[in-house]
Amino acid sequence: MSQTPTRADFDRYMVPNYAPQQAIPVRGEGSRLWDQAGREYIDFAGGIAVNGLGHCHPVLVEALTEQAGRLWHVSNVFTNEPALALARCLVERTFADKVFLCSSGAEANEAALKLARRWAHDSAGEHKSRIVSFTQSFHGRTFFTVSVGGQPKYAQGFGPVPGGIVHGEYNNLDSVRNLIDDDTCAVVVEPMQGEGGVLPGDPEFLAGLRALCDAHDALLIFDEVQTGVGRTGTLYAYQQLGVVPDILTSAKSLGGGFPVGAMLTTDRVAPAMATGTHGSTYGGNPLGAAVALAAVEFIDTPEVLDGVKHRHALFRKHLEAINEKHGVFSEIRGMGLLIGAVMAPAYAGRAAEILPLAIEEGLMALVAGPNVLRMAPSLVIPEADIAEGMARLERAVARLVGGQ
Ligand SMILES: *Cc1c(COP(=O)(O)O)cnc(C)c1O
Repeated sequence: MSQTPTRADFDRYMVPNYAPQQAIPVRGEGSRLWDQAGREYIDFAGGIAVNGLGHCHPVLVEALTEQAGRLWHVSNVFTNEPALALARCLVERTFADKVFLCSSGAEANEAALKLARRWAHDSAGEHKSRIVSFTQSFHGRTFFTVSVGGQPKYAQGFGPVPGGIVHGEYNNLDSVRNLIDDDTCAVVVEPMQGEGGVLPGDPEFLAGLRALCDAHDALLIFDEVQTGVGRTGTLYAYQQLGVVPDILTSAKSLGGGFPVGAMLTTDRVAPAMATGTHGSTYGGNPLGAAVALAAVEFIDTPEVLDGVKHRHALFRKHLEAINEKHGVFSEIRGMGLLIGAVMAPAYAGRAAEILPLAIEEGLMALVAGPNVLRMAPSLVIPEADIAEGMARLERAVARLVGGQ
C-alpha cells in the first residue's frame, strides 16, 4: 500500500450502499478496537453480533492460521476434513441430522427456503409452496430473503417480488392461523427478532407455530443467524425455548468474524436437497469450517454459556442504573448478550442519535430500528470492559438528554 486509505476513499471508490462512520478501525483485541488515529473504543457492537469471541481471539487465530498453512480451497468436487468435522460437531450438539455449509446468513436462509419449497414440491406437489413469515423480521439481503423478510423497504424498487409469501404479526398466533393451511410449505421465524428490535419470541407463540406446522405438514424454520452460537446463553436459542424446528440457519457468530454459514435439518427433510439441487463455491471451504469448528467447540461449554447469562445480568444492571439517572429507556429486553434498550416515549425514534455520541465517548453500539439501542458484545467481554463501556454510554446518554 503506497498511500494510507482514508474515509474519503469510501465515497470516491465504493458503491454508496453503506454510510460508514468517519473513524476507520485498524486493530482489535478482545473487546477493544483502535482506529487510524490511535483512538481506542470499547466494542458493544461485536460487528453486529458476529464477533462472538471479540477480536483476534487466540483460539480462532490459531485455527485460521493453522488451516491457512495447510489447505484453503478444493471446491465441492471434493470434501474436506474441516467441513466434515464441523458438520459432525453441529449434528452432535443439536436436533439436526444433516448440515449444508455456506458463507453467510442470507445464503443459509436461501438454502432453507429452497429446501422447504423443494421438499414440499417433491412430497406433496407444486401447490404446497406458501411461505409464512412475520412483519419486522429480517432474513438477509438476497432477493428471496428480502421478499420473505418483513421489512418491505428492503425489497421495494427491485422489481416483481417472488410470489407465495405472506406475513403474520410476530408474537400473535391468531394473526397466522388463517395464513397456514395445507398449501403452506414452511413458517420461517426468528426465535428472537434481532434487526426488528431485539424482541424475544413468546415460548407459547413459538410452540403454537410448531403445532400449526405439524397440523398442516409444514416445516418450521428457525432463523438463528443472530441468536445462534451462544448469543442467548445456549448454543442455539431453541434449546432453551422448548420448541424444536425442522430447519435452523446459523451464521454471524458461527465464524466469529470469518464468513461462514450453515443450514441444519433432519433426515426427514434433507433428501429433498438431492445431488445437484443446490450448491455454493465457497460453502464448506476449509478456512471457514476450521474457524467455525473452533468457535463452536470453545463457546458450547458451561463456562462460556454461564458467563453469557452472568454478563446479561451485568448489562441489565448497568442499563437500569443509567436509566434511573436519565430516564431515557422504557424497557430493557433481550436474551443473553443480545440486549435492547427501548427508548422512552420522550425520546421515541431517537435511538440512532446515541451512536455518534457514543463513538465520541469511545464506545461502539448498535440500533435495531429507530427506537431500540442494541448491544451484541463479545460473549467473553471482560467485566472491566463492561463497566468502562457503560461509563462511556452514560456520558453519551447524558449528552443526548442535555441536548448536546
Ligand atoms: C444478519 C442476519 C441475516 C443475514 O445474514 P448475512 O450474513 O448478512 O447474510 C439473516 N437473518 C438474521 C436473523 C440476521 O440477523
